[in-house]
Amino acid sequence: MAALPKAILFDLDDTLIRAYAQPEEAWTRLLHVFAAHLDAHDAQSIDRVRVAVMEEARAFWNDRAEAAKWRLNIPGARRLSVRRGLARLGRADDELADRIADAFTELRRTEYRLYPDAHATVDALRDAGVRLALVTNGASETQRAKIERFELAHRFHHIQIEGEFGQGKPELAVYRHALERLDVPAADAWMVGDNYEWEVVAPQQLGMCGIWYDPFGAGVPAHATAQPTRIIKRLSELVE
Ligand SMILES: [Mg+2]
Repeated sequence: MAALPKAILFDLDDTLIRAYAQPEEAWTRLLHVFAAHLDAHDAQSIDRVRVAVMEEARAFWNDRAEAAKWRLNIPGARRLSVRRGLARLGRADDELADRIADAFTELRRTEYRLYPDAHATVDALRDAGVRLALVTNGASETQRAKIERFELAHRFHHIQIEGEFGQGKPELAVYRHALERLDVPAADAWMVGDNYEWEVVAPQQLGMCGIWYDPFGAGVPAHATAQPTRIIKRLSELVE
């Protein structure tokens, strides 16, 4: 096993579990179910709806203040983006929009999957004496349900959820608090996650190592101002 730090902070969604990755495919699949309701009878019409909904979603997720608010109510955010997407296509129908959005929320929930090497990697790190934290954005109820479903609670020395702590990534206070709870200085800690801004750029500002989890090989964003300390495609690379 390569040299390990005193502490590692893990992201949850799309790092330990597969949750929201590759939304294009999931939306396309779901919108096919509603094809008759949407009067969308071919792939092209379905795709027009998908693009409208996803662009509306992107618009408020790109707004940092809006995103911080909606992260605590993702089903509500989905309803809003579908309502706006349908309205943009001249087919405003809030009742239908909410049914589609709620079906998407349920589809995603049923398809959450633990990454196959997540438990083994985390357990090996813990056995090696590394202090471990799970640091996740989102609402308490939603995130706690995932932590329970995937048997994660007992594996970590500290669990920090945005909806409980009161602040979310990339606020530096989030990482400072987690480090304090683990009693490890920033220079001896890694943050591992799939969000470039939250899990590479922000923790590096504190002197932590930002390990970017890039399972689909997306590559470093062209506009990136910071380079990840390391890029991994599988969690198990941390203990090889
Ligand atoms: Mg994530």
